[in-house]
Amino acid sequence: MDNFKNMADLLLPNITKTPDFYEQMYKPRNLPEGARVTRVAPSPTGYLHLGTLFVSLINRLVADSTGGVFFTRIEDTDKKREVEGGIADIINGLKRFGISIDEGFVEPTVEQGDYGPYQQSKRAEIYQTYAKSLIEQGLAYPCFCTEEDLSKVREQQEALKVRTGYHGEWAKHRDITYEEAKALIDEGRPFVVRLRSPGSEENKVVFEDGIKGKIEMPENDEDFVILKSDGIPTYHFAHAVDDHLMGTTHVMRGDEWISSVPKHIQLFRLLGFKVPKFVHISPIMKLDNGTKRKISKRKDPEAAVHFFAEEGYPTSSVIEYLMTIAASDFEDWRRANPQEDYKKFKFNIKKMSASGALFDTDKLNDVSKTVISRMNSETVVNFLLDWAKEFSPRFFEVISKDTEYAQKVFSIDRDTPKPRKDIIKWSDAENYCSYFYDELFTPCYSLPEHISKENAVKILTAYKEAYNPNEDKQQWFETIKSVCPAAGFATDTKEYKQNPEAYNGNPGDASTIIRVAVTGRTNTPDLCSIMQVLGIERTLARINAAIEEYSK
Ligand code: GLU
Repeated sequence: MDNFKNMADLLLPNITKTPDFYEQMYKPRNLPEGARVTRVAPSPTGYLHLGTLFVSLINRLVADSTGGVFFTRIEDTDKKREVEGGIADIINGLKRFGISIDEGFVEPTVEQGDYGPYQQSKRAEIYQTYAKSLIEQGLAYPCFCTEEDLSKVREQQEALKVRTGYHGEWAKHRDITYEEAKALIDEGRPFVVRLRSPGSEENKVVFEDGIKGKIEMPENDEDFVILKSDGIPTYHFAHAVDDHLMGTTHVMRGDEWISSVPKHIQLFRLLGFKVPKFVHISPIMKLDNGTKRKISKRKDPEAAVHFFAEEGYPTSSVIEYLMTIAASDFEDWRRANPQEDYKKFKFNIKKMSASGALFDTDKLNDVSKTVISRMNSETVVNFLLDWAKEFSPRFFEVISKDTEYAQKVFSIDRDTPKPRKDIIKWSDAENYCSYFYDELFTPCYSLPEHISKENAVKILTAYKEAYNPNEDKQQWFETIKSVCPAAGFATDTKEYKQNPEAYNGNPGDASTIIRVAVTGRTNTPDLCSIMQVLGIERTLARINAAIEEYSK
């Protein structure tokens, strides 16, 4: 035993605290029965990933549904992969999507809570203290193998067709003595600290995953690394120490970690920690040439949450879409509660799919159209201005000149009980509203085949005289009807249907002629409202320009 103690002092001479110090310092949380403590633990390796947003959303929902706590922890032990501004990207990203953070990094440079630091690079002493304690108990030891040594072992294992890895008889330094270790350290040889795994492949470890159900795997018998040669922990070790000290009750993370659970359970037990509940979330998938694969940072633009911001999907659309993936009963709930905040939905992890959901752009678009259709024109214009300011300065200039006018534009068929669902994302808005702005409007005079230019001129000329900008929708249509005879069009649709041969067209055709002249399109929201928003001058100018064009 003394030997182990000496070994611990040899390997980590600067560590003078004991685990007990931290156990005293980080008291168990005082939360009501059943409250769940959840977290997201991203590495600051780039932009906010869609998967991280998804996992955060679920962690947030589970904490909320039980009156618990959701915290963030930055896992930055791999300094090579870290990017500048990585923390800000993630934290600001989560906040932009309305994922509130109770504890940890609540702002890119602000940590809050009693269990910090919440950044692994600031916790080296804590990990080393726990590692030292394992060494003292003979549960960990130094390994001096070089990369080369390890690859040689791997080659031998492959040649013999045995399982690769640092286990059993292949664990070269497992029985290293204090004297041997000291001699190598005196030579200046670097070392890592490995767990002396008491597990056997023959035994099974069984656990109940919150989503995937009962899972049985062989026990871990690998002497895996817990501290790297620079004294920084591996993910496995940091996870166990942090989630214990921070009082995480539910470790809910991507399911790529499922195969590591035997290692994690073993660590929790050897360290004398209560094993948390594991919940492994299936990733969002993509169809690639007919096969399902995990959405990839490299291949899929939508893997980066920034993509949605740039395209102008409202953050609430993305969240709403992720909710449909997260919970199979969300859409039914939404139909019954169209206006309710999604946070009111009773989320149950049992309703999560155990296999990965496919990312479906059509579905996202559909959800987003509905989300935008529920916004009033004021909200739409505010969001649109925010988006355009960042991503479309030219459009921003046009719409910001007169926001009251912009609001009128977007109120058409919107501020009504049954709004049109015609905008998917803010980047569609310029095209949607271009004819309301002379600087964006491109006339297009093409008419349906059955309407001749001559008749178009006749209708437009007559309409110019009859046009009264103060008419309501019904009067407006009466006026359209009244100009129909000028081009030999039926004034009544029914009459026309009974005897189409007798007429050159019908009131619908007459309004198409006017619509094309005024908007350059055959399909628009309510034309009477459009003309009211455009105003007399602009409407007449467009009608005149069309008459001129058709008379050529
Ligand atoms: N840093 C790990 C990752 O990004 C966290 C996994 C976890 O939540 O424990 O995958």
